[in-house]
Amino acid sequence: MSDDKPFRLLPRVDDTNEFFWTGGKENELRFLRCQTCGYYVHPPSPICPKDLSKDLAPEAVSGRATVHSLTVNHQPWIPGYDVPYVIAIVTIEEQDDVRLMTNIVGCAPGDVHVGMAVEVTFDEHDDVWLPLFKPRGTT
Ligand SMILES: [Zn+2]
Repeated sequence: MSDDKPFRLLPRVDDTNEFFWTGGKENELRFLRCQTCGYYVHPPSPICPKDLSKDLAPEAVSGRATVHSLTVNHQPWIPGYDVPYVIAIVTIEEQDDVRLMTNIVGCAPGDVHVGMAVEVTFDEHDDVWLPLFKPRGTT
């Protein structure tokens, strides 16, 4: 995707999620992690659901993920997005219950499949870095 296209699905950035939406600035995919038990808490919450610790801090993960489910969108619902494109849920390598709704880019929509190894790539829009995913090992 190029920067000259409009994009209207920008998230609302606030103090609780800024680390997530700006991680791409340092090319880092970040999640809140419990400093007591190591559990990644996503979506962000003030309390770890595992041990109720409030000692949570953003930490970068590898950016590697696996496609969990996907749909190919053929309807031009979003101005600036060329159809067809892939909407997918990916699970991060570090913890398989951390799932992100994202888009798979860098390959033909028909080539995306469940179980596919992907890695993060960032698409910057107005100081928000959207984490998208591409086939692992591609540029
Ligand atoms: Zn914990």
